[in-house]
Amino acid sequence: MVQLDSRISVFHKKNEGVSVARNFGVNKATGQYILFVDGDDILTPWLLESAVQAVEDYDCDVIVGMINTTDKRPSIFPSREKNVKFELLDDHKKKELECHIFSKSCERWRPDQDGWEFNGEGCWAHFLKKEIALENQFIPGVAVGEDTIWALTMLNSSKDYRIGMLYEKWYYYIQNDYSVLNKYNPKIVGQLTLPVDILEKKYGASTGIVHVAYTDWLLMKLKHICFRAYLAEENTDPFNKKVSEFSKVLHTAPWIEVLNRRNTQPFKKRLKFFLYDKNIALYFYSCLKLVNYFNALYQGIPIGGYTKMIANLLDGIKVRLNTDYQEHKSELDALADKVVYTGPIDAYFDYKLGTLEYRSVRFETELLDQPNFQGNAAVNYTDRETQWTRIIEHKWFEFGKDENGNDLPKTIISREYSSEWKPGDEPYYPVNDAKNSLLYSEYKKLADAENKVIFGGRLGEYKYYDMDQVIAAVLEKCEKEFVGENV
Ligand SMILES: Cc1cc2nc3c(=O)[nH]c(=O)nc-3n(C[C@H](O)[C@H](O)[C@H](O)COP(=O)(O)OP(=O)(O)OC[C@H]3O[C@@H](n4cnc5c(N)ncnc54)[C@H](O)[C@@H]3O)c2cc1C
Repeated sequence: MVQLDSRISVFHKKNEGVSVARNFGVNKATGQYILFVDGDDILTPWLLESAVQAVEDYDCDVIVGMINTTDKRPSIFPSREKNVKFELLDDHKKKELECHIFSKSCERWRPDQDGWEFNGEGCWAHFLKKEIALENQFIPGVAVGEDTIWALTMLNSSKDYRIGMLYEKWYYYIQNDYSVLNKYNPKIVGQLTLPVDILEKKYGASTGIVHVAYTDWLLMKLKHICFRAYLAEENTDPFNKKVSEFSKVLHTAPWIEVLNRRNTQPFKKRLKFFLYDKNIALYFYSCLKLVNYFNALYQGIPIGGYTKMIANLLDGIKVRLNTDYQEHKSELDALADKVVYTGPIDAYFDYKLGTLEYRSVRFETELLDQPNFQGNAAVNYTDRETQWTRIIEHKWFEFGKDENGNDLPKTIISREYSSEWKPGDEPYYPVNDAKNSLLYSEYKKLADAENKVIFGGRLGEYKYYDMDQVIAAVLEKCEKEFVGENV
């Protein structure tokens, strides 16, 4: 090329990433204008001539042309159009383009011309004055999304650049399979959150339109990573391993902060839907459940666990363990005006109307001589082949450290199996079908007639409660019970 045209210079440098390479090029350039071109992309023959003309005619700092994203190299160029439309970006249009970068939803920037559009996300098809390129360098070390950050920074610059959009076909962006995004790399997953940091600096951590758009963008990237890395045929890891790896990524900073700190419910729901769509839902649904297992907005467990919390509540109160209330009923009833009964309601009445049914689970617990088994408190297994429904790795509820903050060398896991319940087994989950609901309502009538006893909790009320719900129910019952009293 150098031999063909003496104005061309070729520089070689050691690989320090795409951002450093782009900055290197800008610093070496001696001309008035800069255009970034990826080695495998194709320019329409008129791009440069048209761009120079437009910068001068419209007195712009940056001219943006249309791109065509394709996985095939074009065999012929489209014909060059005459009198192409031009738009100078005012503040409103800059904002629109900013949203479009993430959501690709703005009609203005996707005129329907055989896939030609203003992408805005990259630096391709941006023709700019060299001083603007020098003022807006790429962040070294950022390997993915560096061009999105670059485009956003320029749009948001306090210098208020004159940016013009030229509705002309300029640039074929050729997608290929060896892009960084097509390979699994947790570092890259983390870097995908950088563009939103720029938005946060500008807008604060709000959930405005840009954040909604960002969620779309995040979804798109995550879809990519899911399919190209975890589900790629070349990735021969066992499926469970892939699931566990993916869930680890989702639990990695700063990704986890992104999922936690924003209202990502729509994102998660849509990801779930998308995965269902592709018939691989069951596996990845379990990953999503890891992100938000109970589908609740806020989650947490008390520091030290529930045992510690209950121990604190019972401090100074006499506790008798391994004492069956039914067996010692008259003795225990004599101790108080009111009794709170949290055992099975049918057992209280000696099953005289019949036996309520439950669903049950069985646990197999193992102590493993390794610090980490799955990196998470809970991993669900929804495939047909695996016998257990989930594995709990208990240490991760407490962040895997002992009370002095040291890593624990061993780990305990519990495999959870669904099991048939029969009378005498540990009752776990009530069966809320018509038959059992009817039977419960009959027991409830008997319970309401017991003035001294308050029936409470999942067994006493034959009701599925999560921890937060059962705590709320207790507080409500207390309020009702102690109404008017100074407690
Ligand atoms: C397998 C399983 C997993 C769960 N996972 C979650 C979860 O991940 N997140 C969540 O939020 N919730 C979860 N839950 C629900 C949560 O555990 C319950 O909401 C909560 O424990 C209900 O509290 P409770 O006081 O009603 O019942 P329990 O916690 O069951 O307490 C009832 C108490 O009454 C005692 N008792 C019963 N009969 C007698 C008797 N005759 N004499 C003396 N004592 C008696 C029992 O020994 C027990 O201590 C889970 C429940 C189960 C069964």
